Amino acid sequence: MKNISYSLLISIALFTTACDRGVAQQSSGNAASLKKFTLKPDKRYPQSKAKMTLQKVSKHVYYIQGRAGAATEHSGFISNAGVIITPKGIVIVDALGSPSLARQMLQKIREVSDKPILKVITTHYHADHIYGLQVFKDMNVEVVAPAGTWTYLASQNSKDLLISRRMTLGPWINKHTRLVKPDKIISKETTMTIGGVELTLNYIGSAHSDGDLTVYVKNDKVLLSGDLIFEGRVPYIGTDDTGHWLKTLKAMKTSGLAVLVPGHGKALHQPNAAIKLNFNYLSLLRTKMKAAVEDFTSFEEAYDGVDWSQFKKLPAFKQANRGNAYRVYRSLETESLK
Ligand SMILES: [Zn+2]
Repeated sequence: MKNISYSLLISIALFTTACDRGVAQQSSGNAASLKKFTLKPDKRYPQSKAKMTLQKVSKHVYYIQGRAGAATEHSGFISNAGVIITPKGIVIVDALGSPSLARQMLQKIREVSDKPILKVITTHYHADHIYGLQVFKDMNVEVVAPAGTWTYLASQNSKDLLISRRMTLGPWINKHTRLVKPDKIISKETTMTIGGVELTLNYIGSAHSDGDLTVYVKNDKVLLSGDLIFEGRVPYIGTDDTGHWLKTLKAMKTSGLAVLVPGHGKALHQPNAAIKLNFNYLSLLRTKMKAAVEDFTSFEEAYDGVDWSQFKKLPAFKQANRGNAYRVYRSLETESLK
């Protein structure tokens, strides 16, 4: 990752207009009334029964931790979301894996703050981080996403996946669930100050997905890394550029960070072990599959020849590993033809 720097300051005026939007579903009043706040039921979205807590990691930053597992487990509650509460309003980072989960997150937020929700920043467009977006979009909250998002939205894969998830994750993903377009694209490092809290959106390019970004909360020294870091489970590899992902992990500087909130798994005060695990896993995959492609070894033979014991016990290994390896093999075949 590039060093986190703070080159671009955007006028607070930009956000005060946004402040006026997104006030729907807002509670009012003091702490006691916040506690009592209940979202009105919406029959499009069955009520989530996920065990969800909003955990505070620093003065302004909270996060919700999804459960360890594969995409269709735990009613789709497998990814994390961040919530940054400033005196001016709230910025959400990623929208969870279904509208029902997003509504549950909104309920949790409203139990601690009645500030307007100003933006949802998506670290990347993958189903488990974006299927909740429509809840916020319908409240006129601005959706911010990294460059590469349009590639995802235009892909047949994104359309096919939504259709299949309606079956595999129903009723949470249903006929009302839709792909939400972003309002603003981030294609370079962008710094914004909201209510005195400085956020740097670091555009990474295609690493884990078609486009990734991280969010650094300078005041609190908290980094929300999105899926560049998976904690406590095997990473998911889709259409990624694993070479660039590896370089990004190698360059990642963590000294001075108070907390790293990964895209999956628990928030970390000491993130180096998790970074190393992701790095080692991607390295192993890439090295072994590269050797196989160069030797014209079939994927099956190459896969069976790898010693996976270092990662076998991690959650999601069984569901994710073979597909990950296959996609890396295929991408390296394509690379070798260039
Ligand atoms: Zn992802």
